[in-house]
Amino acid sequence: MTDESQGPYFQLRVSQVIEETADAKSIVLDVPKEHAERFAYSAGQFLTFRIEVDGHRLVRCYSLASSPATDDAHKIAVKRVDDGRMSNWMNDHVVVGSELEIMPPAGHFCLRESDAPIILFGGGSGITPIISIIKTALAKTSRPIKLIYANRDEGSIIFKNELEALRSSNLDQFEIVHRLDDLHGFVDEARVIQEVGPNKDADFYICGPGPFMDVVEKGLGGIGVEENQIFIERFESSSEVSGVLDAPALEGGQSVTIKLDGTVTTIVVGEAETILAAARREGLEPPFACEEAYCGCCMAKVTSGEVEMQLNDGGIDQRQIDDGWVLTCQSIVKKSATIEYPD
Ligand SMILES: Cc1cc2nc3c(=O)[nH]c(=O)nc-3n(C[C@H](O)[C@H](O)[C@H](O)COP(=O)(O)OP(=O)(O)OC[C@H]3O[C@@H](n4cnc5c(N)ncnc54)[C@H](O)[C@@H]3O)c2cc1C
Repeated sequence: MTDESQGPYFQLRVSQVIEETADAKSIVLDVPKEHAERFAYSAGQFLTFRIEVDGHRLVRCYSLASSPATDDAHKIAVKRVDDGRMSNWMNDHVVVGSELEIMPPAGHFCLRESDAPIILFGGGSGITPIISIIKTALAKTSRPIKLIYANRDEGSIIFKNELEALRSSNLDQFEIVHRLDDLHGFVDEARVIQEVGPNKDADFYICGPGPFMDVVEKGLGGIGVEENQIFIERFESSSEVSGVLDAPALEGGQSVTIKLDGTVTTIVVGEAETILAAARREGLEPPFACEEAYCGCCMAKVTSGEVEMQLNDGGIDQRQIDDGWVLTCQSIVKKSATIEYPD
């Protein structure tokens, strides 16, 4: 799909697949010239993929591990999640020449302009946006950079060689501390504080498993690092973490007809409920990821009725809004409506 009037996805060809570890592969994409502008990105952003697995359409985000400053091609890395549908499908089925449906880059986990040192905490597959930021900062700035990178064991270190090459060619600027669960145990608050040392004025970038990020955030908070110095990318959506799906429907509401994956379902959306929340409460499986108006995963087109999108943090552009698209994670229904997810 190449024309935005038809939907937000573009079809891109895989040019390379790299086995990074036993359970993670990098996928390099061929972005044709005509889409180069659309797919321009900042270090730390992600792409949204849509695939069909066992008759279900799945939508997931994968961060770019390449750098716009140093790499010609767009590269992502996907780590298998136990029983995860898309991550295993990507590892098992994507080969050179595969055509994948992908939305243009999005996200705010990007390098902030500053002269402050940069300290990054990466855990497991959380290294993807982190390495993009590191490569970009090394190429464009002289800021001191320190990476604390946590993994289960030596064999699960994604981009080990690439990181080592970056370190050895930037010895004065870039330091890496590997933390391996099997050798050192989990990172705790004391370790976070020790690694930060006197650099409390740094900018901090964090991406990894939920408990790892919580420990890092707590450690930084404990030594007085201000919130505006801390940048976090969460790979899990907030409702997956908090179990929002169990929330009951709200009083009142409007009926909404939803066209998704070839089926048509009419549900009631509570007065202050979002379309996404109502659809999931009713057992539908609409696409979503960030639920904070920036990823664009949950986009759908309003074909009748009145829907109010209360927030857009870059997940959707003006042309799409003019064309009737909304972010369902931020949209409430004013008058009975019909919405269609992209084919
Ligand atoms: C902004 C962003 C960037 C990301 N970047 C990356 C990246 O660079 N690399 C990367 O590897 N990942 C990344 N992710 C995570 C990625 O998007 C997926 O969430 C991840 O690959 C898991 O998807 P999945 O389809 O394999 O798992 P899912 O099928 O969604 O399953 C996830 C977990 O839920 C469990 N589960 C599934 N269905 C059910 C059910 N019905 N009942 C109970 N439990 C169930 C599974 O067992 C599994 O443990 C990113 C996420 C975000 C939001």
